[in-house]
Amino acid sequence: MSLTRPLVILLLLALLGFLALQRCAGERPQQLSRSRILMGTVVEISASSADPGRLEAAVTDAFAEMTRIEGLMRPAGEGSDVARLTVSEQGTEVAPETAEVIALGLQVAAASGGAFDMGLGRLKALWGIETETPRVPAPPEIRQALAGAGLGDLRLDGRRVEKAQPALAVDLGAIAKGYAVDRAVEVLRRAGIESAAVNAGGNIRLIGDHGGRPWRIAIQHPREAAGQLAVLELVDTSVSTSGDYERFFEQDGVRYHHILDPRTGYPAGRCQSVTVVTASAALADALSTAAFVLGPEEGLALLQRFPATEGLIVAADGTRHASPGLEARLTWR
Ligand code: ADP
Ligand code: MG
Repeated sequence: MSLTRPLVILLLLALLGFLALQRCAGERPQQLSRSRILMGTVVEISASSADPGRLEAAVTDAFAEMTRIEGLMRPAGEGSDVARLTVSEQGTEVAPETAEVIALGLQVAAASGGAFDMGLGRLKALWGIETETPRVPAPPEIRQALAGAGLGDLRLDGRRVEKAQPALAVDLGAIAKGYAVDRAVEVLRRAGIESAAVNAGGNIRLIGDHGGRPWRIAIQHPREAAGQLAVLELVDTSVSTSGDYERFFEQDGVRYHHILDPRTGYPAGRCQSVTVVTASAALADALSTAAFVLGPEEGLALLQRFPATEGLIVAADGTRHASPGLEARLTWR
């Protein structure tokens, strides 16, 4: 007995050591990053989990969900609610997801006094900023393209969307990417993923933190291609940036970009970039576009009307404006 006791202890120690190793191996999170082109931009999903098999499946499912949302909300194509709405005379019934996006968009439209407008499809097509042949339209063309747009251009009754004017073309370009990010996050969460970042062209949503520390999100400098404006330390939230440097063309020394002011029909001139931090990526997406149109003062005031929503605005003259609640999480570069 006395001889075997050390042996038993040794065996027990070895077993404990083995179990501890197993635990470490089992709990060491695996990381996976995948990117795809979706909704006209690069979408990147980075996720970590202790279970590599689950990780791969979850990321694949998240991309599939984003592809499904893109199918519903892209401007044209079979199965697109937006395409059906645009060709309809008075409106049509849409999928619950599309109705949810339009409901949120209408809220932002109302809160922003119409600066956010989902009825600018004709105006967007007229400028052609995201095409090979953009051009500055003549004022009468702009007036015509704006006909029917404005507060009240769209109404939602359950799943039915009503258009104020048959000619109105719906465009969810300022909100659909954020919504798709929210859906991807939902899929990842349901699969048990506790740490992830989903980024669709500057519409980012974060699950949890990054290895026990906040995620560090660098915000692009609007006038220095390789430069950073600021770094934000964020946990379990969304951040979206809208800028005049993303999609634009220049003519006679003037920059014409893709965020349009519904009051004038021209690209909004008050900001270089707007970053919004809030819980949902769809709301961050819509608010960053809306605040961009409104400019620094009214833009930050708009953000205050939404719970736990913060922002960072670079005005047209390059001055920087941050909401007070963001200062603690912000390092200027
Ligand atoms: P990005 O698409 O580059 O992320 P935004 O989220 O700011 O940028 O969305 C810009 C897009 O939103 C435009 O390409 C257009 O489709 C649409 N849009 C432009 N101006 C407005 C506006 N005032 N209100 C709502 N949507 C707009
Ligand atoms: Mg947007």
